[in-house]
Amino acid sequence: MRQNSVVKQPKPFITLKRYFLPARVVNLCFLIVMVCSTMLTWREVIVLQGAYVTSQRSELGNVSNALDMQMQSAVDRLLFFRNSMQAALQTPLGFKALSSVQQAFRLLRAQAQWQIGFDNTRTLPIYGVSDDFVNQTALLHRDDERLPDELTMAMELGYLFRLSANASMLPYQAYYISRAGFYISTNPVQSEEKIIPTYYRLLMRPWFRGQQQQENRNRGVRWYTDQAHQGREKSGFVAVSIPLDYQQYWYGVLVLSFPVRDINRLLVKSREGQEGGQYLLYDSRFNLLTSTLKEQGTVSGFSADEYNLLLADMEHDTVGGRHLGSRYVSWQKLKQFGGVLVRIHTLREGLTGDFGHISIALSLLWLLFTGMLLFSWRVIRRMVNNMYSMQNTLQWQAWFDPLTHLYNRGAFFERAKILSEQAHAENLSFAVIQLDLDHFKSVNDHFGHQAGDLVISHAAGMISNTIGEQDVAGRVGGEEFCILLPGSTLKQAVRVAERIRARIRGKEILVQKDITLHITVSLGVCDAAENGDYDFESLQSVADRRLYLAKNNGRNQVCFTDGEPKK
Ligand code: GH3
Ligand code: MG
Ligand code: MG
Repeated sequence: MRQNSVVKQPKPFITLKRYFLPARVVNLCFLIVMVCSTMLTWREVIVLQGAYVTSQRSELGNVSNALDMQMQSAVDRLLFFRNSMQAALQTPLGFKALSSVQQAFRLLRAQAQWQIGFDNTRTLPIYGVSDDFVNQTALLHRDDERLPDELTMAMELGYLFRLSANASMLPYQAYYISRAGFYISTNPVQSEEKIIPTYYRLLMRPWFRGQQQQENRNRGVRWYTDQAHQGREKSGFVAVSIPLDYQQYWYGVLVLSFPVRDINRLLVKSREGQEGGQYLLYDSRFNLLTSTLKEQGTVSGFSADEYNLLLADMEHDTVGGRHLGSRYVSWQKLKQFGGVLVRIHTLREGLTGDFGHISIALSLLWLLFTGMLLFSWRVIRRMVNNMYSMQNTLQWQAWFDPLTHLYNRGAFFERAKILSEQAHAENLSFAVIQLDLDHFKSVNDHFGHQAGDLVISHAAGMISNTIGEQDVAGRVGGEEFCILLPGSTLKQAVRVAERIRARIRGKEILVQKDITLHITVSLGVCDAAENGDYDFESLQSVADRRLYLAKNNGRNQVCFTDGEPKK
């Protein structure tokens, strides 16, 4: 058994070297730069998206606030009118003109339809139906005691309606529908035959029927939207109504009604100054009232799935938004009638707007940067790889002989010095074999220099295959080799030398076409234990001397003593 002595590079160093290969370092650096730039761009995208959503909400908020303000002012006005009416019932004015209304009524009340008008530029006419009509209709009632005051009150309300309308303070239609068979309206009837159908239509409206005592117990303001005419802008409306009660008696209903076509006009006007976007107005049950979409497709411009998603969102929040396909849909519930205003912003509109331009510029910048990064990564990686392999080649060439792939003379001497000192320090045995090809000149002479080279490389291959893992071989001269055997005794080294000699002798080397030859080698062996001298140069000179003894003794043999060589 040979004593164990192997000089190896420390393991962590090898591992580190493997992990920090230059190409890997370059890859890692570029990957980090790319990830960072992508993350930064992504962050910008998120910020941009947030700003986009905010801008959508603010555009929507402006329009819904305008709608809400208009509705709120209607409620304020409704309450003002109602209070004025109650005040008029409490303290009726004693003007002669007003009391003449009562006389006119007494004359007309039996007629099927009638109107009482005075100064048509200052007040509104009262339109009415007959006693019979009132008696036949369940909700109606003419209370003769209350009627005179109600009529003068209606006349006063006419003044107020007209004043408000003249001052452009009524962007809606205003009605008072009395249960006593008459009404006043800011919409004048075109001809007298229309009075009955108009009055009948008004009675059938939900905002009249819904104000019965049992339907509206707290007698407050109620909003109504026209379910029956949904989406049909010509006749649809949003109305706010309040019952007129005085001394626990229900007189009638006061209504301000917004025709849907007017709301539509407001929406169309609102979106003119905005960056695209379409508006859809829904009632509290998410039925479409009106929209600025030119062609109202199916129900609402949403598929059933989208519609359900929006409904689910709206269950808990008052404002919101989400991407639906290529569109961004934001919505806000109106404070007034429970309606929802929806804004649809398409991708095309988004791209042509400010945010679109910024997004496109950002994407292009990212693409450009990433493209340049990938390009420079490829170039730098190739450069680094070339440099690395060049460095490796140079390093290898500095250490190894290109013909035999064994250590060259310089590197071998360096290794030999280290190994011998190490063996000395550890008190291990250390043997050296010196080897020279026999009559090599004649190989060159007969077969040429190239064949000579081939023979040298074959011999080197056989030396490498024969020596042990810890042994080190080097080419120390033209066809001279030296082998270090750390941990081997002289006897063990002689055995290795003998094996080398025999193998080389037995090998048939093809040097030219159809020409093979056998060569022999002479070897000299020594070890440090003989003289206790570990100095490599001394050891080598002993081995060299023995090699020449072998040569002199007829070649093709191993010599391991300074005396008579043995075969
Ligand atoms: P011996 O060693 O048996 O005494 O005889 P020899 O003919 O081998 O003599 P020596 O070792 O002195 O000869 C060395 C020759 O090897 C000289 C040179 O022509 C040849 N030589 C040295 N280096 C190379 C080489 O790299 N390639 C080739 N083809 N020949 C080389
Ligand atoms: Mg020779
Ligand atoms: Mg020689």
